[in-house]
Amino acid sequence: MTATSFTEATIRQGASEESFTRGMQYYRDGLVEALILRGDRLSAEVQGSEEHPYAVTAHFAVGAITSASCTCPYDWGGWCKHIVATLLAYVHATPGQVEVRPPLPELLAPLSREQLLKLLLRLADAEPDLPIRSTGYSRAPWWRLRLLRINRPVDRP
Ligand SMILES: [Zn+2]
Repeated sequence: MTATSFTEATIRQGASEESFTRGMQYYRDGLVEALILRGDRLSAEVQGSEEHPYAVTAHFAVGAITSASCTCPYDWGGWCKHIVATLLAYVHATPGQVEVRPPLPELLAPLSREQLLKLLLRLADAEPDLPIRSTGYSRAPWWRLRLLRINRPVDRP
């Protein structure tokens, strides 16, 4: 599609024969939804055996897939069938099947510190597993969050 193009052969290399075959079936069954491309980051939701779809994320460089992850518990080497299905859906997508959005840094750059904090707090509320939790920030009471903000050096002129 773009400079991030890669082929089905690239996908085959990253997965076991079984994952590739099952991923191909998932792709053909139309289980890949919400394909979104932001810069060099592709995300999608793949329906699986669970009630909620699995979330797949992949990063690209020119002609290559630099990393890929999925929220399923697969841990037997190479990419899982959901990643394979997502990448296949991307490779074979017709115009309009992939929603292209501006890269996040582009969207976030103009926001003020206040707006960013608001956004992060909303995210932390909605996503209990947000990595920010492990830093201890979100466990801090509101007054501590305010203190952290006050104590941070101002990096703008
Ligand atoms: Zn998976």
